[in-house]
Amino acid sequence: MNGTSPTKPFNLAIVGGGITGLTLAIVLLQHNVQFTVYEAASKFGEIGAGVGFGPNAIRAMSLISPLVQEAYQRCRTNQWESKQNVWFGARVGDMRKAGDDGTFEYAGRPGMKIGDEMFEIHYPNLEDISGVGGVHRAHFLDQLVHLIPSSVARFGKRLVDVSGATDGSEDVVLHFADGTTAQHTAVLGCDGIKSQTRKSLLGSDTWNAVFSGKCAYRGLVPMTKAIELLGEEKAMNSQIYFGYHGHILTFPIEKGKTMNVVAFASRESWTTPEWVVRVTKEELLADFRTWGPTAIAIISAMERHDVWALFDHPPAPTYYGTKPRICLVGDAAHATTPHQGSGAGMGIEDCYILGNLLGEADSVEDLDRAFKAYDEIRRPRTHKLVTTSKEAGRLWDFELEGHEDDVDALQRNMENRMHWIWNHDLRAELERARVIFRQPA
Ligand SMILES: Cc1cc2nc3c(=O)[nH]c(=O)nc-3n(C[C@H](O)[C@H](O)[C@H](O)COP(=O)(O)OP(=O)(O)OC[C@H]3O[C@@H](n4cnc5c(N)ncnc54)[C@H](O)[C@@H]3O)c2cc1C
Repeated sequence: MNGTSPTKPFNLAIVGGGITGLTLAIVLLQHNVQFTVYEAASKFGEIGAGVGFGPNAIRAMSLISPLVQEAYQRCRTNQWESKQNVWFGARVGDMRKAGDDGTFEYAGRPGMKIGDEMFEIHYPNLEDISGVGGVHRAHFLDQLVHLIPSSVARFGKRLVDVSGATDGSEDVVLHFADGTTAQHTAVLGCDGIKSQTRKSLLGSDTWNAVFSGKCAYRGLVPMTKAIELLGEEKAMNSQIYFGYHGHILTFPIEKGKTMNVVAFASRESWTTPEWVVRVTKEELLADFRTWGPTAIAIISAMERHDVWALFDHPPAPTYYGTKPRICLVGDAAHATTPHQGSGAGMGIEDCYILGNLLGEADSVEDLDRAFKAYDEIRRPRTHKLVTTSKEAGRLWDFELEGHEDDVDALQRNMENRMHWIWNHDLRAELERARVIFRQPA
């Protein structure tokens, strides 16, 4: 990372040190922008679960810095050589509609049995990147932490409010739960789905996250155990098991030492104030009681049983404000359900665009122009992700009108629906943002 002294006439606060906050910090370091990261927790950290990145996210990483791309590649897990370009192998998971002989009557696919592969979904155009795949979230975050000097981080700083400074400077004042304050030129809100910066910017509760109708059981299975239960092909390559009102994803992480599992189920409502709740194995199995032996084996082998309520954000009318100066990035701006595996990747794209615009800013007025350009360029793409992702969740669970039980329609839809996400030209997007940034006020 660039180590020269900051030269800009502004000083920024990044609130939140997750994947978005740390990636943004890395971009700002390259442009000699002065900033401090305020993190509520006592140290940077991520949960013990997997996260997958699509080709767009990996391209964004390498555009940001080869060091970020290398950090990712150090954590990434390869699938089999023959499966390098496979996003998921789609398999039959739920027994509910099996005939007496255990086979399914999907149109054009006679005789399918539980666990059988119906089709594969492939990534297009991987020539320009070294590979896609899942990583262990905590390990990836550790790699990002190594790219940032420890002097920029303040821990135990839970933001509770943002106000305008009263000293005539037009600065923002950050108020923390420990009673302390900090003054900066602007706040970059990277504080996730329950974002306080979002509340400070948008004011009303209308823009709070809403329950999406789905929840997810997340867990890990040691790979030796997974192979014993499923065989090598299923355990060591990404799979999606389809069912009614639920689906199960598995993919390898930790260089093949662990199989990551996310088992989704539909729910009419979520009434518990906590969004992550420990459940018993019996409660978990109850949601999958009609599923076949493959799914039951996967779920039974999960080492922890936490259920996550999946919320997403209504589309924010803006991602920035100038009084006080706040700009939202990553999940704070556009938290999405995970059904297209792209929430964190979109946050990384945000960082590339916003970080580069801030790198070109030479005055406080330029900050506002950078925020405006970022907002105009990023809001439509990221809102589209939130909407299409919710739809994908219903599609994967055979709940989407016109797609019930239609495996061919499901395959066609899966093959096409990710292209606008994966094949995005982020460099061209930055050029469009630069044009807006340079327009006279
Ligand atoms: C089940 C599931 C599976 C997913 N799978 C994928 C996937 O495969 N691929 C993908 O791209 N995305 C996936 N996502 C989405 C992805 O997890 C998020 O998009 C991503 O983690 C958001 O990163 P972030 O840094 O913006 O927010 P967060 O990860 O939420 O980080 C926010 C940070 O801010 C801190 N913070 C919060 N409030 C405050 C405060 N008031 N003051 C100070 N600090 C604060 C937090 O402690 C945290 O460190 C998944 C999500 C779920 C729920």
